[in-house]
Amino acid sequence: MAIATAKLKKVTKKVPVRGMMDNVMEQFNTAADQINLHPNIRKILSITNNEIIINFPVKMDNGDVEIFTGYRVQHNNALGPYKGGLRYHPTVDIDAARALAMWMTWKTSLAGLPYGGGKGGIKIDPSKYSHSELERITRRFTFALADNIGPEHDIPAPDVNTNSQTMAWIADTYMSTRPPAERTANQHVVTGKPDGSGGLEGRDRATGYGVYLSIKFWAEKKSVSLKGKKFIVQGFGNVGYWAAHFLEKDGAKLVAVQDAFGSIQNQKGITVEDLFKYSQINDGSIVDFPNAMSVKKEEFFTLDCDICIPAALGNQITKKNASKIKAKLIAEGANGPTNVEGEKILLERGISIIPDILCNSGGVVASYFEWLQNRNGELWQLDEVMTKLDKKLKESFDKVYAYSEREAMDMRTAAFCIAIERIEKAYVQRGIFP
Ligand code: GLU
Repeated sequence: MAIATAKLKKVTKKVPVRGMMDNVMEQFNTAADQINLHPNIRKILSITNNEIIINFPVKMDNGDVEIFTGYRVQHNNALGPYKGGLRYHPTVDIDAARALAMWMTWKTSLAGLPYGGGKGGIKIDPSKYSHSELERITRRFTFALADNIGPEHDIPAPDVNTNSQTMAWIADTYMSTRPPAERTANQHVVTGKPDGSGGLEGRDRATGYGVYLSIKFWAEKKSVSLKGKKFIVQGFGNVGYWAAHFLEKDGAKLVAVQDAFGSIQNQKGITVEDLFKYSQINDGSIVDFPNAMSVKKEEFFTLDCDICIPAALGNQITKKNASKIKAKLIAEGANGPTNVEGEKILLERGISIIPDILCNSGGVVASYFEWLQNRNGELWQLDEVMTKLDKKLKESFDKVYAYSEREAMDMRTAAFCIAIERIEKAYVQRGIFP
């Protein structure tokens, strides 16, 4: 009998990678089904209004020219000007910008703000560029974007790897493109500016404070105390740091942190301010912090804790790690940190999730305050800002919590339902032109 000698072809199964758009669309469609969203409005909300991709040259410090790609996606403006951040990160692409813009539409709608949703950024690793190169990159991108943004049209803000300095450059460049008499009236083209340049006191801490508040509100609903509760934070930037700061003040204990460079743990507790000071003198990284042990990257989410705060990038909690998570609560400081498959596993295991569009909405709510402050020529005090923020976030949290209880659904779907219903109402009232 002849023996087959032909070698079997090795078949490698291609596992499709879930993009951020897959997630946000699935989240949207789940909620749209729940509220029987009119098919016409579903069609409108499933696409983005405008997508701007700009390739632009910038002269580097050594005289070479480099080409960068920047994005601004304007998803929907039924409720007001497009609003949302600009991030500088190698993962920025059209898929990410679209998904993040959509999340902004739901976030601003849920928060009851007079805004739509937009997002963008530059595909870049900013740690590889000097301060003056980043300034030229930001200004050149703003110049190219100038006709597509504006204080009553599209209002960028900080996001991953951008900050008040970036916003100051954007405001200054944008204002320089306007006729002299209109310049200063355009300061609110961006929010998250430095105080002294039209910024709002407390804008820097607002997102992290909101994350903390939503955890506090959740704990109140569940009648549990935050005292002694262990929490872990992924990302020790503006959001992660401030959330940890306020949680610690309330008696909770930081036990592990992960950033782009590594992960650390100490089950006895890590003092937030000590870690912050250390990161300031360690190029912004928490790695090798003396009072903690280093942990393997893939073990981070499986560490022992009560509360887990992903406050870095998207798609971090997936089917790969969701079944090993020990936390009872996930508070999403980042946008899209839990993907749909990961969420399914968490919910089956009885783990609660405070969804991103609620949990991290303190940032955009404070942005709205800044925009109002600039528009009305006012200067708000820090305590006034924090009190207003508290009130607004409590209203949103209570609305979502009550909806989820009433309709027996998870908090993300409830948040989406509320957000979409508000936009649907605007379309029903106005109709579709022509
Ligand atoms: N980038 C933040 C977010 O994702 C803030 C957006 C804003 O303030 O416009 O919500």
